[in-house]
Amino acid sequence: MTAQQFDVKNGLYIAGEWLGPDGRETQAVLNPATGQPLGDLPLATKADMDRALEAAARGFDQWRKVAPQERAAVLHRTAALVRERAEELARLATMEEGKPIVEARGEVAATAALLDFHAGEAVRIYGRVLPRPTGTRSLVLHQPVGPVAAFCAWNFPVMNPVRKISPAIAAGCSVILKPSEETPASAIAIMRCFQDAGLPGDVAQLVFGVPDAVSRHLLASPVTRKLSFTGSVPVGKHLLKLAADTVMKSTMELGGHGPVLVFDDCDLDKTLDLLVTHKFRNAGQVCVAPTRFHVQEGIYERFAKGFAERAAALKIGDGLSTDTQMGPMANPRRPEAIGAMIEDAVRNGARKLTGGEAKDGGGFFFAPTVLADVSLDAKAMNEEPFGPIALIRPFATTEDAIAEANRLPFGLGAYCFTENGRRQNQLADEIEAGMVAINTVRLSWGDAPFGGVKESGYGSEDGPEGIANHMITKAVHIA
Ligand code: NAD
Repeated sequence: MTAQQFDVKNGLYIAGEWLGPDGRETQAVLNPATGQPLGDLPLATKADMDRALEAAARGFDQWRKVAPQERAAVLHRTAALVRERAEELARLATMEEGKPIVEARGEVAATAALLDFHAGEAVRIYGRVLPRPTGTRSLVLHQPVGPVAAFCAWNFPVMNPVRKISPAIAAGCSVILKPSEETPASAIAIMRCFQDAGLPGDVAQLVFGVPDAVSRHLLASPVTRKLSFTGSVPVGKHLLKLAADTVMKSTMELGGHGPVLVFDDCDLDKTLDLLVTHKFRNAGQVCVAPTRFHVQEGIYERFAKGFAERAAALKIGDGLSTDTQMGPMANPRRPEAIGAMIEDAVRNGARKLTGGEAKDGGGFFFAPTVLADVSLDAKAMNEEPFGPIALIRPFATTEDAIAEANRLPFGLGAYCFTENGRRQNQLADEIEAGMVAINTVRLSWGDAPFGGVKESGYGSEDGPEGIANHMITKAVHIA
């Protein structure tokens, strides 16, 4: 696929119709590997958003009455189309977001699996019958909440839109999705899969615009009954305040600051291989990225050295080259922010073991960076870096490590490496996080809840919980 084939011109999908620029403002989409424009995206007007809301209201009325088996069939067909179009989807994601093509292919495969999982769950939405005196009973019904306004970030351009649309329509809701304006082509291609799989036009809409204007408009409408957001903590708090006006049900998948607790009984080489790959996945722009590496004193220096050697050896380049191990950052905001965090950490006493600079070459590249002895006062130790920077510190006891893991107001993903079974249970019990990985780095599986605690959010996605979060509960008493 070339830049000529990258087409976002008719990117708004409202009431079953693809709409183009005609009289609308547009926004350029950039290739992060070159900084050059790939295409112009039309932005929705207020009238477009009102049309989308009307369609979502109609779509909900229609879709909630459709048999779960038919909803499941549409999801299975969408999964099949995602697999059929996998290479096109992966290339779009790499071109507009920058991630290496192998990562993009993995994202597409996981996306298809999630669609199939939701299809399976759509037919397993049960209620309860409560016994009462003979001839009477009470029922507990689970019903779709209503039209969903969903907003997602640019870091998983294929998976994020599906994480929003798929559980909503499995539950019987309609949805208006505003993906990131920086990665629209993948979302458009995903919406075409839903359309070609037979999802009625009013059931899912795609809009782009000025994020704050779109979210204010959609969340102020009485049509919208649920907010679903993936993005930063500050934006999440802002949207929750808007949602409070109508006491709207919400799913918030916000940022984290992933602690990694590495104990001196771990398999060090295996741990380092796993962690370095995972740290620099998507150039560190992952909500569950391992961020703070707390390493037990006995293996601290060996860990830091091994980490830096592996990081320095990574091949950086355009994600479309098959030998690239880390691509550019997705937009020009992050390299700047990361550079400032590194300077601040070094000023606070951190030792720079490798990296530390943006890389020349036109795109938004930043060298994989490893800092040791990072002070707890460093900004990067307290704010989510969202970039290719590893922060390493020593600890002495299990209790110290747990206290450190729980120090921040975030609680998304946490990682532990230890062969001691008793300690594994203690870590699983005491770490404040929505997801804990022990001797693995994989936290995301279609059948498991994905989400955070504390300021990282609530209302998990994926798993049966993801669909349950799109339902209301109704008690019916029949005498
Ligand atoms: P940002 O907070 O400005 O934007 C994040 C996403 O939210 C974007 O896709 C944006 O379009 C959307 N957004 C922003 N304001 C919005 C609004 N008022 N209404 C609706 N949507 C809105 O930050 P950024 O510079 O794009 O990304 C950097 C930060 O975002 C990171 O520090 C990280 O915390 C966070 N982030 C988190 C995730 C995640 O998966 N949890 C993903 C991407 C970014």
